Amino acid sequence: MIKKRFVYADNAATTRMSEAAVQAMLPYLTKEYGNVSQPYSLARAPKKAIKEARKTIASCINAEPDEIYFTSCGTESDNWVIHAAIAQRWNIITSSIEHHAILNACKVAEASGRTVAYIPVSTSGKVSSAQLQVQLLENPAKLVSVMMSNNEIGTIEPIKQLTEVAHNHGALFHTDAVQSMGHIPIDVKELNVDFLSASGHKFNGPKGIGFLYIKRGIEIPPFIYGGAQESGIRAGTENVASIVAMATALKENCDNLKGNMEHVRMLEKRLLEALQPLGCKVNDNSEHVPGNLSISFEGYSGEVMLHRLDLLGISVSTGSACDSKNTQISHVLKAIGLPKALALGTIRISLSKDNTKDDIDYIAECLQRIVKR
Ligand code: PLP
Repeated sequence: MIKKRFVYADNAATTRMSEAAVQAMLPYLTKEYGNVSQPYSLARAPKKAIKEARKTIASCINAEPDEIYFTSCGTESDNWVIHAAIAQRWNIITSSIEHHAILNACKVAEASGRTVAYIPVSTSGKVSSAQLQVQLLENPAKLVSVMMSNNEIGTIEPIKQLTEVAHNHGALFHTDAVQSMGHIPIDVKELNVDFLSASGHKFNGPKGIGFLYIKRGIEIPPFIYGGAQESGIRAGTENVASIVAMATALKENCDNLKGNMEHVRMLEKRLLEALQPLGCKVNDNSEHVPGNLSISFEGYSGEVMLHRLDLLGISVSTGSACDSKNTQISHVLKAIGLPKALALGTIRISLSKDNTKDDIDYIAECLQRIVKR
């Protein structure tokens, strides 16, 4: 009889807020509630806090503070870039495994008369520079958008090389780094990307806050119209508490990045070793974000496994969290060519720095029990 415990292993869906981030936001929810746009003294502390948060976030990714624009989430950051392409009549090239925040925005672009080309990926979910080159020759585009790492299978894309190819063909490059930010090192100057999206709740910050990096010198139209916030291109009274908490969480993760990555990789190895006798398939076990494991059990139902694990106190996902209502095979598993019997039996286990060896042993024990049944 296994002793039931709670194990959160769905960190690609969202993460637990860091205690430091919770504490950092409290003053701006209580006594420092001034509207940053006002000239009086009550606005001084929140104004300074936003300035500091922008600096902190910029320093975590080697950007300049004036290149960071606060948004309401990763989806908004992604939508903003695609909206810019629609507004400026740019054609787009993206990959077939992007998040729906890109893919559904691209549908709108297509409906508005833009051409959108979708690059196929390898069986491990990689987008190759050669494939991008082919697409750019066949479908000249002004915007290329490829995610830094995939939310369902964790694959890390060769962003630096892809950006170089895009620039050589006169295109701008956007990367959706929602699943990478705070989990792998990111240096926007080294990658030379033009736009980068991130979301606070994926790196122990609050939900409902994100940012878009826009390289200095690149101008795009607003996506949200109104006041003069965010240099006049993203209107709306600033969510000071969440901005401050997001910066706190990101700095905490970036300061401890190496140790966190090593810890999660160790947990991953322990889990995969324990699962080996079950004969499951690990989708893309090569270069992936630490902790993001897509595991297929042939002949099983991923959905049933998710619910059995939930009864045992373990939270995992079948595909991507944003797709939990959709019981079809995910577009990512289709794109990597996973056979149906494996795809239907796929679960995503996404570990974090907060998980322990005991969590891993419990997950392995429960999976063994479910599979043996
Ligand atoms: N992009 C990727 C790769 C994601 O995984 C997600 C969320 O799962 C998003 C974008 C959307 O981010 P948000 O939940 O902040 O809107």
